[in-house]
Amino acid sequence: MKHKIILLTAVFLLCLIHVSFAQKELRECGTQPFTLEEAEKQPWYGNNQYLLNLVDSIEGTLDQGNMRTEAITRSQFLVPVQAHVWHRSDGTGEVPEDWQIMSWINRANEVLKANNVSITLYMLCDVDHNNRDEYYDQISNDAGWTRLFNSRRNVDALNVHFLRGSRDNVFGVGQRPRTFNRYSSFAIITDRTIPGDRNQDILDPNNIRDVGLQDGFIGTFIHEMGHAFTLSHTHEVLESTRANADANRCHQEYVDRRKVLAGHCIFTGSLFGDNLSCEYNGDRLCDTPADPDLTLGIEERWVENCNYTPTRIIGGTSVTIREPQDHDGIDWQPSALNFMSYTTGGCRLRAGSITRMQRGVMYDCIRDLGISIGYQVDEYENDNHFRVADRVELGQFPRRHHTFHENNGGIAGGVVDWRGCDEDWITFTVTSTRNVIIMRIRS
Ligand SMILES: [Zn+2]
Repeated sequence: MKHKIILLTAVFLLCLIHVSFAQKELRECGTQPFTLEEAEKQPWYGNNQYLLNLVDSIEGTLDQGNMRTEAITRSQFLVPVQAHVWHRSDGTGEVPEDWQIMSWINRANEVLKANNVSITLYMLCDVDHNNRDEYYDQISNDAGWTRLFNSRRNVDALNVHFLRGSRDNVFGVGQRPRTFNRYSSFAIITDRTIPGDRNQDILDPNNIRDVGLQDGFIGTFIHEMGHAFTLSHTHEVLESTRANADANRCHQEYVDRRKVLAGHCIFTGSLFGDNLSCEYNGDRLCDTPADPDLTLGIEERWVENCNYTPTRIIGGTSVTIREPQDHDGIDWQPSALNFMSYTTGGCRLRAGSITRMQRGVMYDCIRDLGISIGYQVDEYENDNHFRVADRVELGQFPRRHHTFHENNGGIAGGVVDWRGCDEDWITFTVTSTRNVIIMRIRS
């Protein structure tokens, strides 16, 4: 009995240490891992070919444009974004301007385009402003995040909540659809300052030109968007907050893409057959390499110059990752670009950050939710403010014919609600000594 008490005390102390440690550091992301039940609901679970076929069918129908007209490759999925901005209960607080949100969405669209993802986000011009201290910067657990996502939502859009901070000290949290609800939401934190560290407030005018900080923010934006479109961390372990490197033999995603799980690993839902580790474990996608967790055991990352490095100099000391190999003794070779990994935020913005199967997962989710509408959105959105005006070089070929559309205002129940709040801003630049002309046209 005494041994048991000692053991329990030790476990309790360990928990205390863990909790107090966790509160000091900032976590990359607060999104929960999949449960087995959720995973089994995904049509590609154990069948990645489903995704490859889906991507072929969706991308195969794209309009490729032609040589004479402007090469416009329209996205198959035009996803409206409903921005929710949270102020303190008394209405004060540091919050982003509409044009800032548009500029972030435009950056996210550039990343999607660079990765051949046939999704374009555009912001509904009716931004949803609300006051509540808790949601401004006080959310402290999963129940709090769920309450936030349920409190304000547009069922026809991707819901993005802009918060100042949280007691969970996370950069962002995504909520998977088809698990909790039939809509898609994520939250992102605008003040990324770690207590005692340098100012990392994304809204501080002094930080606007801090490329690393701004890129890190966009990296979080697209990462959380990935969760909201059903994607998992590349280092995920089903039903566990452990890292892939720490998973047991049945639950680990191995480096070898042809690795078959042992016969007794029947949790996968299949008693027979050759179950590929990469289809059942990790993010359950075989075209993303097995990932030990790029923050395994450290607050920094096992990443240098967007490359995985199992040995780093931290604080003048050479440190090696705790589990450098999988259970078969093969060195990890994770991607330090993948947007669903814990790589440095800016690395997520490059070509090669989103794989074909990850595209497929997002397409399947958007298609299933029905949040992409065939509305008249031009390819120059988001341009509702002069600070995000689209730029036109006069006299350049190919000429551009900008057709103004009626509006891209709010939508309710899948029907466009004409509010006339859309504006199209264009900056015409002329290559002469004359002044630049700025035109504002409101339809
Ligand atoms: Zn995440």
